[in-house]
Amino acid sequence: MYGTERVISGTIIAGPELEPLEGYICIKNGVIREIGEEHTSSTNIIAPCFVNAHTHLGDSVCKDPSLGNCSGFRISKDLDALVKPPDGLKHRILRETSYRELVKSMKRTLLDMIETGTCAFADFREGGPVGVSALNDALQGLELESLILGRPLAPEKPLQVVLSEVKRVLLHSSGLGMSGANDMNSELLREIAGFTKKQKKLFAIHAGEKKRDDIEKALSLEPDFLVHLTKANKKDLKTVADAGIPVVVCPRSNFTTGVGMAPVAEMLEAGIPVAAGTDNVMLNSVNMFAEMEFLSKLFSLSDRQVFKICTLNGYSVMGLQSRGLIEKGNKAKLMILNGNSNNLSGIKDPISGIVRRARPSDIISVLHS
Ligand SMILES: [Zn+2]
Repeated sequence: MYGTERVISGTIIAGPELEPLEGYICIKNGVIREIGEEHTSSTNIIAPCFVNAHTHLGDSVCKDPSLGNCSGFRISKDLDALVKPPDGLKHRILRETSYRELVKSMKRTLLDMIETGTCAFADFREGGPVGVSALNDALQGLELESLILGRPLAPEKPLQVVLSEVKRVLLHSSGLGMSGANDMNSELLREIAGFTKKQKKLFAIHAGEKKRDDIEKALSLEPDFLVHLTKANKKDLKTVADAGIPVVVCPRSNFTTGVGMAPVAEMLEAGIPVAAGTDNVMLNSVNMFAEMEFLSKLFSLSDRQVFKICTLNGYSVMGLQSRGLIEKGNKAKLMILNGNSNNLSGIKDPISGIVRRARPSDIISVLHS
């Protein structure tokens, strides 16, 4: 797209408030040069891309594990058996997977992200420094914004050994993404959180997924963001809001593992910035249309709130703030949807239409600059 000018007409979901306007958008050298209002017969809908704010892409090597009888209740008993380090199913499979195979599987999932309208993602990458390097290799040649949050391979080792591994993880990653405050020695976790911050890298951690007893500990580490908070109560939400810590929710994952539903409306009400992620590739595809539809139909949220959670809020959790906005001067990161597809034809409100019913086959193209 560089060196070329492109003018696209349609309904543009522009700016921080996601206001739909009828007109055209002019893109030159990958940058939005102009947005103009005018009547158009075009049925294109031009929308910000998705941000998938929490993934475990390494799980791409295990997409269809046995989940018992597929009832959430049954799976919740086996959540640790599936994902808890060091010996949960995914970790055993990852240990047995060759580097080449891991890179290849993750690349397929990254391509799927692009095809389904995602421009940016934040991944919790297992496997220490080599795990980080595998995702960097998988990303080669792909236009996706990424936050790779690695973790030490063997957190049960002495402090100096773990710190030296953290140092190597941080060399080629954006920071650390830890399993949970109850999953390793508290003092060690505190040391590595402090060390990560001193290196000016991000520190993120799962909290309150199955129980709420790790929330306080996680908060004491002053994380850059938390993932899940499924079990957070009002008091927890107030503390998180007061500390200004964003939360990434994973509704489909929480439903599948039977841990319950995150109090998303209460989070927003408390003033917490909320983004969404598809979590483990072993549980869910990375298709954010599916996450969005799930959020819109099972939570008491407005369509606009849901759309923001799945797009712009993800950029701010990633520290990229205005990056995904469709506005003059920004790089063009947008998807063009066919408002005249059999699925979308006749919708009155483009945001409600997209949030409640759009799907990847409605995408005409995705522009990543
Ligand atoms: Zn996770």
